[in-house]
Amino acid sequence: MLDGRHDGGKPGSKRHVLVDRQGTPLAIWLTPATVRDGQLLTAHGVLVIRNARYAEDREAPDPDCGCYTCRHFSRAYLRHLFMADEMTAATLMTVHNLYFYLDLMRGIRDAIGFGSFEKLRSEFHQTFSRRQCST
Ligand SMILES: [Zn+2]
Repeated sequence: MLDGRHDGGKPGSKRHVLVDRQGTPLAIWLTPATVRDGQLLTAHGVLVIRNARYAEDREAPDPDCGCYTCRHFSRAYLRHLFMADEMTAATLMTVHNLYFYLDLMRGIRDAIGFGSFEKLRSEFHQTFSRRQCST
């Protein structure tokens, strides 16, 4: 889908990422919609921070991520901030989601340069899902 359409980041939007026909991300739009929905993007799926199951979870939002948010804060703390409508929640979640997107784009650029884009595409589709992650 290289039609350039996007919806301006409405709540629940799924059009933040420009993808090719197979759904591999090629470019991103920076919108607050994902954060408004309480979604953290991880390599294993979407983590919805408002879920009650994270109220006592001391794990990093995404243990495989090297961003500032994941290195310094727990899922429980982010959930607390989100549920209390603290602006810091949006800031910390945006830091993580932008890091996720930029890391993904860096991986795509590297894969194209090394001629391994098809391998990356296959791995991405095996691990990433728009469904909620189970961890
Ligand atoms: Zn992170």
